[in-house]
Amino acid sequence: MHSSVVVLGGGPGGYAAAFLAADEGLEVTIVEAEPRLGGTCLLRGCIPSKALLHVAKVIHEVDELGKEWGVEYSGKPKIDIDKVRARKDKVIDTLTGGLGNLAKRRKVKVIRARGSFVNSTTLKLEGDHESIPEGGQITFDHCVLATGSVPAMPPVFDIGSDRVMDSTGALNLVDIPETMLVIGGGYIGLEMGSVYAQLGSKVTVVELAENLLPGADKDLVKPLAKRIKALCEDRVLLNTKVGSLAENGNKVDVTFEGPGKFGTESFDRVLVSIGRRPVTRGLGLENTQVEVNDRGFVVCDKQQKTADPHILAIGDVAGDPMLAHKATHEGRVAAEVIAGKNSAFDAVAIPAVVFTDPEIAWAGLTEEEAKQAGRKVDVEVYPWAASGRAQALGITDGLTKWLVDPETHRVLGCGIVGSGAGELIAEAVLAIEMGCEVHDITDSVHPHPTLSETLMNAGEVHFGTATEIY
Ligand code: FAD
Repeated sequence: MHSSVVVLGGGPGGYAAAFLAADEGLEVTIVEAEPRLGGTCLLRGCIPSKALLHVAKVIHEVDELGKEWGVEYSGKPKIDIDKVRARKDKVIDTLTGGLGNLAKRRKVKVIRARGSFVNSTTLKLEGDHESIPEGGQITFDHCVLATGSVPAMPPVFDIGSDRVMDSTGALNLVDIPETMLVIGGGYIGLEMGSVYAQLGSKVTVVELAENLLPGADKDLVKPLAKRIKALCEDRVLLNTKVGSLAENGNKVDVTFEGPGKFGTESFDRVLVSIGRRPVTRGLGLENTQVEVNDRGFVVCDKQQKTADPHILAIGDVAGDPMLAHKATHEGRVAAEVIAGKNSAFDAVAIPAVVFTDPEIAWAGLTEEEAKQAGRKVDVEVYPWAASGRAQALGITDGLTKWLVDPETHRVLGCGIVGSGAGELIAEAVLAIEMGCEVHDITDSVHPHPTLSETLMNAGEVHFGTATEIY
């Protein structure tokens, strides 16, 4: 069988590339090992985690904040874990079903098989699904490599116990353990830790670095760290290493080595969320000219071209940041490049969002990056305590800040912490991409009373004219 374009991997990078290549009039086939399209994002990442985080937020609002606001329900909320899981699964089913239809409508063929390269223009297809063509091979003019990433599980944590989970295991929500250790204070650990803590588990978070969300600006992390500490009843261990895990009956014994904690403690479940690794092993890349760097990522240029003229790479397998929206944009570029257009991935600002409560979002230059680069920037901060909407919502610990070039007054970066930060950051992404100056933001009329006004107000701080109109 031959297909002009073959996309290996049906995640948000792969299906976007496939659909857009089909829209360009190309003949396209997706090779995906799993029964459904959607990849990590839909099946065991962005979407299921956000469905569960929404439940966690509702519990927080009705159970804890409600009391402050004069709305009290009797007793603790009763969690029906089967219903919580079923709702999350229904969201996944709806979206993956939609993808199947979108593929059909575009006449994109989907082969359910594990693919590996025989050479630069042929994939071997392994599996027993009826969609696999006779001969078990497909040839192509171009292949888009979109095999994504999987959770990193170093041998020291990989003890063969189902009490030790990665993010996929945590999203399965088998039970609500009484005690749970989250190893890694990055965004996935904090999102999943928040869900379990809000559902009733006693969660401990351990992080090797001195702060949660290492790499993010400290002022953004501060309100979240406070909330996580409260949610975990002070069990946040920083600067602390986990030395070993050992199954012990119904528990996992964990040894800690660090100022946060020394010695051993037992947990009902352990979530290992210390990062993800790109999927390049077992793909037969040695049979092609594709190059892989020392971190395991496929090397490609701004047009997503690899060293092999027949193969492009996109998404998590093609490098940081490992985010769905970056994968999708790279998928678009790959499709257009294959169609002969002069496209390139040239984003100035790829937003990052941590969907905890409060949310954290940033785009463009961060204060940490500016400091490291020795770049002088004006940092204009607007605290949400001065926002009428934030006061009404009871979320006054948020802040919005712009990083501004002191000479050109252009906005270079934006950081937000607070409810809905992930939605608010989109305005900043547009402003940074368009090379806006601060006055472009302050001169744009923002609706009142909204949290979006804080973007305008933070801009006004630059001119010393912030108006606090409650
Ligand atoms: P993937 O989505 O990983 O898809 C790769 C596909 O390739 C898979 O379906 C896999 O089965 C298939 N495949 C691999 N090898 C083969 C082979 N040999 N043959 C056939 N098929 C193969 N990102 C965000 O932007 N926002 C979020 O809120 C967010 N939350 C997340 C939460 C969690 C818990 C996790 C784990 C991830 C989250 N991510 C989030 C990251 C996001 O899921 C990834 O960045 C995104 O899915 C990457 O897309 P991709 O297309 O590159 O790869």
